[in-house]
Amino acid sequence: MRRKIVVLVVVLSASWICISFRAVITRSLKVSSVNYQPVSNITLQQNYRVSYPVFHVPELDAVVTNYVKYRLNSFQPRGSGQKLNDRFALHYSFAHVGTRTATINFTEVKQRVNRSYSYVHKRIILDKQKKKELTAKDIIQQSEAARTKLAKLLYRYFKHQPALRLSGEELVRILEMRLEEISNVSLEADTLTIYLNPHNLNSMQDVVAIAIKKPLLEGVLVPEYLENEADVLQILPPASNHYITEPPMEKVDPADKLVALTFDDGPSQLTPRLLDILEKYDAHTTFFVLGHLAGTYQTVLRDTVQRGHEIGNHSWNHPDLRTQSPAGLDQQIGATEAAIQAVTGGFTPRLMRPPYGGTNPLVQEHLASHHLTQALWNVDTNDWRDRDSELIYQRIMAGAHDGAVILLHDIYPTSVDAARRAIRDLKARGYQLVTVSQLYQYRL
Ligand code: ZN
Repeated sequence: MRRKIVVLVVVLSASWICISFRAVITRSLKVSSVNYQPVSNITLQQNYRVSYPVFHVPELDAVVTNYVKYRLNSFQPRGSGQKLNDRFALHYSFAHVGTRTATINFTEVKQRVNRSYSYVHKRIILDKQKKKELTAKDIIQQSEAARTKLAKLLYRYFKHQPALRLSGEELVRILEMRLEEISNVSLEADTLTIYLNPHNLNSMQDVVAIAIKKPLLEGVLVPEYLENEADVLQILPPASNHYITEPPMEKVDPADKLVALTFDDGPSQLTPRLLDILEKYDAHTTFFVLGHLAGTYQTVLRDTVQRGHEIGNHSWNHPDLRTQSPAGLDQQIGATEAAIQAVTGGFTPRLMRPPYGGTNPLVQEHLASHHLTQALWNVDTNDWRDRDSELIYQRIMAGAHDGAVILLHDIYPTSVDAARRAIRDLKARGYQLVTVSQLYQYRL
């Protein structure tokens, strides 16, 4: 993308007027920024500076200039010479400019004489096809289901952020948040950012910006705004200080018995059925997937992450890693990681299970360089050899113990059938069915 940004600031020293002029021009989109002539009763003694983008679409430009006029009016002096040194600046940056939508960040700084600065932040989201401003209500589905899903996503995220020290009351407050309270949002290329005000959350000093990857917002975002939309201008790094790229897993009670069922070599057409079974019994698990299948089973992988399961790396196409050259190892590990990230909207595996459990110091060194923990198993059901659902069920139940990591494959109907019974019966015996990462947190 070619672009040219010209910033020219002319200060007329005789007066206090400061004019800023910016122009941003690209081949595909023409957006320019102009200084705004102040409303008539701002005196020349005031020091002010305003910039805003121009889209050369009258409807959109009206939205922007109306906002600028409105803010400038808020700075009108109230008829006293003591405001000679007041300062006012209103500037913009883009959070996103796609072919369909654009989000402008306006930042306003006001300084009255002998008083501290005051800041106003405003995000304006525009739909360039509909030629109108979008409010949060236009972007977020106004249904109880959408509200619940969004609240749960935020709740689970904050619950797992001990550094923020949110009280139980505040967490419940997030869970009960009404959609009307979520009005301050920003739409970006692949995220929706929600700004929560400190008065909603007592522990937080500043406004908290939470960027949520769009694929996690299926059923929350209005469908036409769910797709990722590449930026056509270079955009500054987002201001978000929190990212939700994967739903945090449910809380584990470490005092209870923990078992990690694991499913290798998928995804497959059987995986969706297994996901439904897991959900029915409130069980979580780790899927060690093959990179070359990620493209075929994109929806399944996305669904796996959204339902709170873990995805581990199981190589691209299942070679014995001990036979691989260093370059081959990097390819097997790296390409799989990239494929998983691409289809899930950013989920990054933390675990790798080498095919056949085949590992050596060189393999382990490469795993470490990719920030991966090697994850083997301690109960083998041999479900690939014995396609007998009763036998596999018996082996799962016999092998289950606190700390068990049980090896299965979600590519055989007999294994999924066995897992269905085992999940039900393990729950009945008081086991928590957790992901391998959760198990490692408490049992290593
Ligand atoms: Zn395998």
